[in-house]
Amino acid sequence: MKKKRVCILYTGGTIGMIPSDQGYVPAAGKLKMVLNGVQTMQHPELPEWDLIEFSPLLDSSDIAVKEWNEMGRTIARLYQGYDGFVVLHGTDTMAYSASALSFMLENLSKPVIFTGSQIPISQLRSDGIDNIVNSVIIAASGKVHEVCLYFNGKLLRGNRSTKMSSDQFGAFESPNAPYLAEAGINIRYRTNVIRPAGEGEFRFQEFHEIPIGVLKIFPGIQFELFESIMTEKLKGVVLETFGAGNIPGSADAILPILRKARDNGTVLVICSQCLKGSVSLGTYETSAALKEAGAVCAYDMTTEAAVAKLYYLFSCGYDADTVKQKMEEDLVGELNK
Ligand code: ASP
Repeated sequence: MKKKRVCILYTGGTIGMIPSDQGYVPAAGKLKMVLNGVQTMQHPELPEWDLIEFSPLLDSSDIAVKEWNEMGRTIARLYQGYDGFVVLHGTDTMAYSASALSFMLENLSKPVIFTGSQIPISQLRSDGIDNIVNSVIIAASGKVHEVCLYFNGKLLRGNRSTKMSSDQFGAFESPNAPYLAEAGINIRYRTNVIRPAGEGEFRFQEFHEIPIGVLKIFPGIQFELFESIMTEKLKGVVLETFGAGNIPGSADAILPILRKARDNGTVLVICSQCLKGSVSLGTYETSAALKEAGAVCAYDMTTEAAVAKLYYLFSCGYDADTVKQKMEEDLVGELNK
């Protein structure tokens, strides 16, 4: 039987880093060298794999629209030649990148698995090889057809994932969506929650550098201080609110911001600071003003997914009203109403 082929895109992150005077830094060529020396990576039962190293390799804090486009473009270019893709990425912004690619890669019918590690693979006790090997196997399995994030035995939907821990091996969770698979002695796929393969033609939607913002609400926030940043340049703002979408103070306090957003055509998206559960505008008086001002309810979307979705929808060229409408629709498994 012909061996399955997986393409590994290596973008940077702890997994391939080496110690330096300034702390861990990416090192070109290092990861390939280590992988070539690891027996498991040459195991006859492991799918065939090729590694494409991005240049420069980056700490994921430096990854944004330009790099997402590079990842998306590379996958689109190599799409027919491989059964699946693994993206090696730093953990800090992995959930943003996985969310971005879940929108960018339209009608996906092959797995794209993001992974990385908490300890570099060149160091003792690294979790890197285990994460890569399982990701490669899942990418070749033909059982998933979406952008996922694999870490520490769990396969999560990419646009539902969030980084929960800066030091535990189990760094990620998807608080509002079930795992897609768990890797124990066997890899158990939950076929009932995995998205079906895209039916239309696979397509890559390039992202543009859309001016958007995220504002976290906190006790004592003086909304008037933020009025000046609500310029007409801002296409969208994600408000991270309390609980089910609540903001402090009387409705009057936030009115100037809401008015400015309306006058400028800025889309306001209401997410929650709670990791679990959903936004429900109008349940409390403290969210009524947002509802009346036409803010968009993100339901149970993560902030990462809401940010990526704003980039995506504006990059598609939709006007503000269409963006508002689509923000509240489930496009690729990112929200439940
Ligand atoms: N700072 C690193 C990064 O996100 C952390 C990691 O990879 O775990 O690139």
